[in-house]
Amino acid sequence: MAKTIAFIGLGHMGSPMARNLVAAGYTVLGFDLVPAALDQARADGVTVVATGAEAAAAADVVLTMLPAGEHVLAAYQGADGLIAAAKPGTLFIESSTIAVDDAHAAHALLLAAGHRGVDAPVSGGVVGAEAASLTIMVGGEEADFTEASKILQAVGKRVVHCGGPGAGQAAKVCNNMILGVSMIAVSEAFVLGEALGLTNQALFDVAANASGQCWALTTNCPVPGPVPTSPANNDYRPGFAGALMAKDLGLAARALEQTGVAKEKA
Ligand code: NAD
Repeated sequence: MAKTIAFIGLGHMGSPMARNLVAAGYTVLGFDLVPAALDQARADGVTVVATGAEAAAAADVVLTMLPAGEHVLAAYQGADGLIAAAKPGTLFIESSTIAVDDAHAAHALLLAAGHRGVDAPVSGGVVGAEAASLTIMVGGEEADFTEASKILQAVGKRVVHCGGPGAGQAAKVCNNMILGVSMIAVSEAFVLGEALGLTNQALFDVAANASGQCWALTTNCPVPGPVPTSPANNDYRPGFAGALMAKDLGLAARALEQTGVAKEKA
């Protein structure tokens, strides 16, 4: 077991993930910019340090769970960045959802500095993070995947090796394109159902057992009633920010452009 993990970014997802790593027996050195996140981490048994670099310097593994690619690349670089601080050969696990090309850039920075890295974005939301039941999609070399996967088992139920560096983010961008589209479709369907005089429960009971069945409906149901654990039944407690979903759909659009899948109509 790698003993000490630097955990950078203790937000909605990072906070419960760090807690689960502590519960699995790892020493977790945590850092976030927000004092309230640090207070929660302390209460969860994380050793809070003053900077990300301080955490990285003392760790065997550096795990980042930040909002977007620009935050990851900024945290990695510079004289006081994570890459400069880490011991040579440190394994970096990058779990934020970022663009595939940013994942390649991050990986190149790690290799140039003599480190190792995998991209390991996650799916399952805050509920999955709390229950350590995330699905984790990993891109990286086989040996790095094997080492990272032992740690990721403590925060997830399914850890899938998707291919070389960047392949985890490729899987994530495709998955979240499905999520964004299905979340919009499910929400619109409930609005239409209501306008047609259907109860939310009746539409749910049908669609959850018919061809409309999907995670956006059965786990994250956007209307109060049918799914007790969904945000709609819990005062819409913040979980996955709308801004982050918009970012992910932007990543899908960017990937569609870059691959040439989205072609202008003649
Ligand atoms: P969040 O905004 O709640 O957490 C991000 C944390 O990073 C914040 O606490 C912020 O203060 C911290 N941070 C930002 N810059 C920092 C820096 N330089 N050093 C240290 N800390 C810094 O976001 P989240 O919901 O936890 O999501 C994190 C990532 O996981 C995103 O890329 C998101 O797209 C992805 N994701 C989120 C969910 C979800 O349901 N929330 C699900 C799957 C994947």
